[in-house]
Amino acid sequence: MTTIAIIGAGFSGTLLSLHLLRHCPPPIRLVLIERNSQFGRGLAYATGNPSHILNVPAARMSAFHDQPNNFLDWLTSQPEGENAGPGTFAPRRAFGAYIRALLNDEIKRSGRDRLELVKGDVIGLDRSTRPLLLRLDRDRTIQADFAVLATGNFPPAPVPVADTGFYDSPFYRPDPWAPDALTDLDPDAPILLLGTGLTTVDAVNSLLDQGHRGPIHALSRRGLLPRRHASVPTPAPEHEPFPTAVNALTRFLRKESARAIAEGSGWQPIIDEMRPFTVDMWQTMSLPDRRRFLRHLRPWWDVHRHRVAGQVADRIDAARASGQLRILVGRVRQYMIDGDRAEVLYRPRQNDKLVPIEVARVVNCAGPGADYDRIPDPLIRGLLHDGVARPDPLRLGLDVTGNCALLNKDGAISRRLFAVGPVTKGTFWEMTAVPDIRRQTEKLAEYLATLAKAAPSRPPA
Ligand SMILES: Cc1cc2nc3c(=O)[nH]c(=O)nc-3n(C[C@H](O)[C@H](O)[C@H](O)COP(=O)(O)OP(=O)(O)OC[C@H]3O[C@@H](n4cnc5c(N)ncnc54)[C@H](O)[C@@H]3O)c2cc1C
Repeated sequence: MTTIAIIGAGFSGTLLSLHLLRHCPPPIRLVLIERNSQFGRGLAYATGNPSHILNVPAARMSAFHDQPNNFLDWLTSQPEGENAGPGTFAPRRAFGAYIRALLNDEIKRSGRDRLELVKGDVIGLDRSTRPLLLRLDRDRTIQADFAVLATGNFPPAPVPVADTGFYDSPFYRPDPWAPDALTDLDPDAPILLLGTGLTTVDAVNSLLDQGHRGPIHALSRRGLLPRRHASVPTPAPEHEPFPTAVNALTRFLRKESARAIAEGSGWQPIIDEMRPFTVDMWQTMSLPDRRRFLRHLRPWWDVHRHRVAGQVADRIDAARASGQLRILVGRVRQYMIDGDRAEVLYRPRQNDKLVPIEVARVVNCAGPGADYDRIPDPLIRGLLHDGVARPDPLRLGLDVTGNCALLNKDGAISRRLFAVGPVTKGTFWEMTAVPDIRRQTEKLAEYLATLAKAAPSRPPA
């Protein structure tokens, strides 16, 4: 019997399991391990807040590349989505329910002996044994011939300041997705959100939903907010091949966007048309160019590429227009606590003067932590400590091959350890959203199935 263990049952891990079941004949079996109680939802789709809506229209959220209407058909069969159309931005919780429903259907079809769901926290992995030994909480172990990290996103790294004592105070919330990030807050109190990206947009929505009346400050180095989707999608022009040198790419994007706007259509299709090619473009770019892209173009790329639905953008615009939401541009320099009051000193961009903001809470919404050397998760720490994995050179995740195999500290390719989803951004760059992860899990399932079929079978543990 050959066992494939998948660590993490968010979108990536669950979808990989579905594809593996289709590609791997019995007696190959899968174990899907999740530390939270909700299989199939992960960080993004576990939210119960109906204001947290998808930032991709329903027509592009199918779990299967070859069945583009799969999500839309499921959505319209549900009471919550009976009026949905291809351009609907559905609540994220509906997408989570869809993935969970797919998982339930597949378990019914294949049987629990083919796919075992284990609720547990994988805290270590011993690769010196054959099979691999996964160590879980409560002294449990699981043997597997192959293991895939589908561990997703980790909380943001703290903003570096000289005195980090504030981070241990009750004023600070390090994890914007934790249940207590916005609870127990005086509705009139001032709050500071670090970051101005999609996580901040979520936090502002949640604050408004819970009737927050106090000032909401959002601070980032450039103060860029995610742009809105076009109200009427226009077909994408044809431009392939795209430039892969950063300067040429910047010139191209500026020129084509200006042309599209002059012709009366939006700039959005230019970005959308690049989507299927971004992995190839990334992999064609030289390492120095990838670094340049991350340093100079990334903030602009992120807000144009990861957009929000019109209704979300309207709500953010209204909060800004009323003066409740203020976007600040600069960097945090210092925190000060005086009894039950706290102050953040930040330095505005191109300005030497420190500006104070009174706050009742600071929530770090600065985007997922990607420097794996600084991620305190025990499984990741152990893999790096044992030299089984290494961070990628750009510090976006772990170093993997184009087949998603982990590279060890010396660059040797693992035959038994793999990774999918945001962990692999260094190699693939756009491995964040559903359409990208969908393609990646399909390919990895095919590849792993060939390895698993060729692996010598062993007696059940
Ligand atoms: C807030 C948010 C909103 C998003 N909205 C959209 C959207 O609208 N449209 C879109 O296309 N994309 C969206 N994305 C991006 C994308 O869909 C997600 O990043 C994607 O779902 C990633 O899935 P994942 O399974 O890799 O990671 P996650 O969803 O983070 O799941 C990882 C899972 O692994 C588990 N886990 C981690 N470590 C262990 C361990 N050691 N042992 C056991 N379990 C473990 C975690 O508990 C978690 O459930 C969003 C992302 C976020 C964070």
